Amino acid sequence: MVLIPVTTAAGDAMQCDLKLTGGSVVDGSGGPAFEADVAVSGDRILAIGDLSDVEAQRTIDCRGKTITPGFIDIHSHADWLLIDPDHHGLVEAFVRQGMTTVVGGNCGFSPAPVSETNLGGIKEASRLIVDAPVAPRWQTMAEFLDAVDEVGPALNLAELVGHGSVRAAVTGSLRPDPPNKDELAQMERLAREALDAGCIGISTGLGYPPGIFAEHDELAAFASWAAASGKLFTSHVKAYSWASGAYQADPTEQPHNLLAIREILDAARAGGARLQVSHLIFVGHNTWPTCEDAIAMIEQARAEGLDVAFDAFPYTAGNTTASVIFPPELLPHLEQVLASPEQMEPLRAFGDATFERIGFHLRDIQIMHANAQAFDRYDGMFVGDAAEAAGMDIWDFYARLVVESHRNARVLIHKYSGSDEDQRAIETVVSHPLCTVETDTFLTATGHQNPASYGTFPRVLSTYVARGLLSFEEAVHKMTGASADRIGLGDRGRIAEGAAADLVVLDRSALADTATFDAPASYPSGIETVIVNGRPVLDDGRYDGEARAGRVLRA
Ligand SMILES: [Zn+2]
Repeated sequence: MVLIPVTTAAGDAMQCDLKLTGGSVVDGSGGPAFEADVAVSGDRILAIGDLSDVEAQRTIDCRGKTITPGFIDIHSHADWLLIDPDHHGLVEAFVRQGMTTVVGGNCGFSPAPVSETNLGGIKEASRLIVDAPVAPRWQTMAEFLDAVDEVGPALNLAELVGHGSVRAAVTGSLRPDPPNKDELAQMERLAREALDAGCIGISTGLGYPPGIFAEHDELAAFASWAAASGKLFTSHVKAYSWASGAYQADPTEQPHNLLAIREILDAARAGGARLQVSHLIFVGHNTWPTCEDAIAMIEQARAEGLDVAFDAFPYTAGNTTASVIFPPELLPHLEQVLASPEQMEPLRAFGDATFERIGFHLRDIQIMHANAQAFDRYDGMFVGDAAEAAGMDIWDFYARLVVESHRNARVLIHKYSGSDEDQRAIETVVSHPLCTVETDTFLTATGHQNPASYGTFPRVLSTYVARGLLSFEEAVHKMTGASADRIGLGDRGRIAEGAAADLVVLDRSALADTATFDAPASYPSGIETVIVNGRPVLDDGRYDGEARAGRVLRA
């Protein structure tokens, strides 16, 4: 029941639906915690302060507890999940972390727009992210967003339109040459339609086809369309390792990952866009030391007037497709290369040499889900162990994994910004004031899971705070107010009168992440109640899979 607040005359009791009393409020601004009650009416925060006179339909006693805004996952890929009418059980893992809003459409890959040209590709590639291939019953972004609302999502969704999906809708996914004038005009129409439909920005995925083929002018054009609507331009940049097959230049002169950041800064500047560098990671032991230079480059661009920031997850591994390791020139005919012993030989030599340089190996890749029947028994294993179990050479094994999964083997790549022994780079990134927190995760019912699906936000709030890397208030800010500001949804991510009633009640003394790489599917402790648009979806530890309290947040 929704009550309109009534203050008929001075002194009359105000009424609300829900009152959280006696908690320590961390309001998402980064400012210090304060003691207060919080009143919710409908889907909004009605009042904050001493609200002992306010009558409530229901009161939750928060003494000894902390009240924060709901957490925003600024990079989630969960749009592919929320379109599934049966997602509510699976996303319990998100709600139990305190998440109330996810950003989807990341890394250039959104489920819309759909054309005859990219329909097959969308279906096929969705197998990477979700259990069953997504069968689009929409074409435009407006239709997709309406379809999510019809499902009734468990969480709120803010959507980016993917450059990759737009380009693939016009030219297909594997055509390397730049779009001609007419094609670019078609892309502009599709991108602008999506932005007008309520997308919060444009994403790019320059490590995957077709984004991997995009050059400066094309990227600057997309950035300018985002800018024209006042929205964000985000980028999975072309390289995250010190030496990468994506560039021919000598990495000892300019590390390739820094080159990639330079390129996207230039594109954003040329297009006049606000830029978000997605998952600022440093792949391979020898790439970790470039972390300070990368951050300095971003800070310098900011000092020169570009509105740029970045995001990261607090784990030294991340999920992606097994085919991500191959250089762009092989992608249009990768299967042919992998099937040919003559072509595999130089590829193996090149791969080993490049990995050696960056301080990485195929053995650092863990299979989440092979997505190919003959290989599914290796789910959860590292590639070296799996190859040994299969009695195969490691490169032959990996090549077959990629081919038989139709490039959709889901893997967890380790040595991202650190290892169990060396956490310096990852700690520097996550605790930096320009960094917002993300999961960047693929949450599925099948296969081995990414611990980020279960523990990301509690991990930053407990482990990172306990290590003294940042204050609790700063940590909350990075997953609430700061994220809301980046995506342009000013009424989320804060506890303020009139703001959306997305709230978390947690017990700091019990707060802990429990998910590990070996046993990732483990809920955190300490998150007690999660309220989405005024409705408790996690209620004193009980998850309500029927709530459907989320909605699409259109900007
Ligand atoms: Zn990405």
